[in-house]
Amino acid sequence: MSDCLFCKIIAGQIPAAVTYRDEHVLAFKDIQPRAPMHELVTPLRHIATVAEATPADAELLGRMMLVAAKRAGELGYGAGGYRLVMNHGKDAGQTVFHAHLHILAGRPLDWPPG
Ligand code: 5GP
Ligand code: ZN
Repeated sequence: MSDCLFCKIIAGQIPAAVTYRDEHVLAFKDIQPRAPMHELVTPLRHIATVAEATPADAELLGRMMLVAAKRAGELGYGAGGYRLVMNHGKDAGQTVFHAHLHILAGRPLDWPPG
């Protein structure tokens, strides 16, 4: 999608600190980190929010979770723990409408989130 920020990052038109890429997903560091580890995992294909996903996207969504767990483990947070978050819509605070999974780690994380 031509006006989508994350599509532009995926296309290399906007720089980002990429930490993982395969034929399905991209992971990169959040520009405004809310924890010592704060990365985003996003599908290469534009899906605006998880609510737009279909059963055909089930494997893709699962891949995002697996990449997130792999990245957190690589950074040493497997034992201590981490949080995976996907915001949908305004009330959840979604600001970029290309679905993405937040990986947050490296500090105690309040529950429930604010
Ligand atoms: P949301 O609020 O939609 O769940 O999360 C969007 C995230 O994208 C935010 O945490 C925000 O800091 C991050 N973000 C916004 N613009 C950019 C950007 O240009 N580059 C990177 N790396 N992250 C961004
Ligand atoms: Zn997009």
